[in-house]
Amino acid sequence: MSWPSWLPLRADLQPLSPYGAPQIPAKATLNTNENPYPPSPALIEAIADETRKVATNLNRYPDRDAILLREKLADFINGLSGTTFDSENVWAANGSNEIIQSIFFAFGKTVALGFTPSYSMHPLIAKVSGTIWVDGARNSDFSIDLNQAISQIQEHSPTLTFVTTPNNPTGGAVSLAEIEQLAQATKAISGLLVIDEAYAEFSTEPSAVTLIEKYPHIVVIRTMSKAFAFAGARVGYLICNSVVKDALMLVRLPYHLSALTQAAANVALDFKEELLGYVSTLVSAREDLVSQLEKLGLTCVRSSANFILFSGFPQSAPKLWSQLLEKDVLIRDVGLPGYLRVTVGNEAENKEFIAALKDLV
Ligand SMILES: *Cc1c(COP(=O)(O)O)cnc(C)c1O
Repeated sequence: MSWPSWLPLRADLQPLSPYGAPQIPAKATLNTNENPYPPSPALIEAIADETRKVATNLNRYPDRDAILLREKLADFINGLSGTTFDSENVWAANGSNEIIQSIFFAFGKTVALGFTPSYSMHPLIAKVSGTIWVDGARNSDFSIDLNQAISQIQEHSPTLTFVTTPNNPTGGAVSLAEIEQLAQATKAISGLLVIDEAYAEFSTEPSAVTLIEKYPHIVVIRTMSKAFAFAGARVGYLICNSVVKDALMLVRLPYHLSALTQAAANVALDFKEELLGYVSTLVSAREDLVSQLEKLGLTCVRSSANFILFSGFPQSAPKLWSQLLEKDVLIRDVGLPGYLRVTVGNEAENKEFIAALKDLV
């Protein structure tokens, strides 16, 4: 877009476009990798009760440091990964996007490196925060070429190196052994290695949180938005060495996490068995979708997440995307020529998607 000359917008922002996954109502909403299962009546009730309690105090600022929430998040991760973190190893914010922004504010000194295609917000937040973004390429199967990655780390000395695992939009996971090699390379140039684990709960790979004790420059981003089925509440968090958390406190806005958000998230963590209960359902639905896509002659990238990147259709990706939308199925064109990404939905949505696709490929 062209901006009016009276607007003193920063020159480096003028060529950018805002993040914009289309928000279009559809019968099957399979475009933003949410968990399709809504909270149970018991959880809704518990959130309403807790919110009512908190409302009596809304004239006051919330706990600026969100201590209770951070303790609960530490317990949650310890339960999944057998670690011994406490609230000092956790920072929480309004979605992991705010975590990423804080990381750039605190550590985005010169260059940041990531392996494209990956999560589009990493380069966008880099640019907004005035950090140079370097695209590290991937192999044609979208895996990371470790030797090339290590030489790019040595060449550019990024203060931040991003690895998304499982990767969005391609779905593949990076092994812990590979992360450890990247950890050694980033340690040698005194950078941080940022592991974005937004989809970790869907993967069988162990979490990189298990490496933090040995490599304090590894920080791991997690979110309640995806497997945890809590995207509407906007809660993301970082597992890290306590001095990383101390540094992030320098750049956070005062009282950034509202009392209502904290209350809802605290309650949701008490319902973790229920919320994560759908993970195995979604993983088997993913495998089911893969085999149905393959039966239609399409090719799927191996996914360890709750979405599938597929190719092999005769028309262009934007064309198939809009043909599906005409049939009330919303998926995602991630801008990779010849590929589309579909989120694993509930049974009805997945059926809707396959039925619509059958007529088009
Ligand atoms: C969805 C997503 C996020 C953002 O999640 P929020 O916590 O909702 O802000 C972060 N990283 C990746 C890779 C994602 O796909």
